[in-house]
Amino acid sequence: MARCKNCGRFSFTVKINPCGLCEECEKAIEDTISHCAQLMKNTLDNLERETNLKKKLEYCNILYQNALKLEKYEKKGIKTIKPYPSIFIKDCTKLQKELSNNLKFTV
Ligand SMILES: [Zn+2]
Repeated sequence: MARCKNCGRFSFTVKINPCGLCEECEKAIEDTISHCAQLMKNTLDNLERETNLKKKLEYCNILYQNALKLEKYEKKGIKTIKPYPSIFIKDCTKLQKELSNNLKFTV
């Protein structure tokens, strides 16, 4: 008997895909992940180009929020993005600290 990694539903009739998700969750999660991944990619691009510290910090927050959304799935053992959301969160937290420190000195 298979069990969905996301909703925890299990039955003989519910089809579970190779990733361990039922059909409903697979569709919903795929959409969320691709949406977040795309948003994070764009935000990363903006972050790299941006020179204004305050704006950099804003981009960093966006990255952080989206990584948090994906980490929920990572914790359930569902494949999300590489590098893993939890690594993104660590990096973002570090960068947020650095940026806010720098911001203090420039204000
Ligand atoms: Zn499910």
